[in-house]
Amino acid sequence: MDLTQKILDLKKEKKAIILAHNYERPEVQDIADYTGDSIELSRKAMEEKDAEVIVFSAVDFMAESAAILNPQKKVLLPCTGARCPMAQMLTVDEIKRAKTLYPDAPVVVYVNTLAAAKAHSDICCTSANAVQVVQSLDAGTILFGPDRNLGEYVAEITGKKIISIPEWGFCPTHLLFQPEDIMILKIQHPDATVMVHPECSYETRKVADFIGSTSKMCKYAKESNSKKFIVGTENGIMHRLKKENPEKEFIIAYDGAICPNMKLTTLERIYTSLKEEKHLIKIPETVAKNARDALERMFEVKS
Ligand code: SF4
Repeated sequence: MDLTQKILDLKKEKKAIILAHNYERPEVQDIADYTGDSIELSRKAMEEKDAEVIVFSAVDFMAESAAILNPQKKVLLPCTGARCPMAQMLTVDEIKRAKTLYPDAPVVVYVNTLAAAKAHSDICCTSANAVQVVQSLDAGTILFGPDRNLGEYVAEITGKKIISIPEWGFCPTHLLFQPEDIMILKIQHPDATVMVHPECSYETRKVADFIGSTSKMCKYAKESNSKKFIVGTENGIMHRLKKENPEKEFIIAYDGAICPNMKLTTLERIYTSLKEEKHLIKIPETVAKNARDALERMFEVKS
């Protein structure tokens, strides 16, 4: 029996669902029940009432969020080494330090944070809803972390003062996109539309026609009249974009934009994870409660 069939059989036996982020390997995306960005996957995890086990094919903070929102389900992360470096950049100490400097400013944390940081925030956001979350707050100054680029983008749109915590947070993969590479591609493909993620630098965002999260890029690619796109986000999204739009052409803005952490999940690891029910994500309820409140406040914001 091939590995895919073994996974499907185990999934049925354990009443499990597999969720995969848009940046996962193509074969992992193909075996998943749902593929999406962090907000889409968090919603799916909550909607799947009959599922007893959630295999979260992504990185640590996403599986943590699913475990926080679904305490009655077993949330498994197939590879414990799949850790997002950006999520490690915002510590609780950093939040506390910023709060002493700006006691009246609400703390908005990107979902790309560990549970302890979420627990010390007022509200979470994703790249898909960060603008709406910040707009929903009755404050002109916001503490925002850990991604400085996303914070800058939100400040540009909302006009609010964003204090980045830490000052330097970033996604190493999205910083690989350079405006010069995109300009060359634009010369080679003058009919192409440029879509980039808000985690890209200011200079890269400036040469884009569309800035959005991966879910927004997928929607935009589907609805746009354009037949060709230059894509500025992690390479894994190309699989979904091509699958959903076979008649359109997608060109990655930089071939090397691969998040090594997202690629650690393999079919073999999913199989072992399901079979041995490892690695189970457990968040202490003292931390989970506050983090859940911050995530639920985010879901209440219309986006
Ligand atoms: S793409 Fe960037 S933000 Fe996403 S998991 Fe990888 S390092 Fe973290």
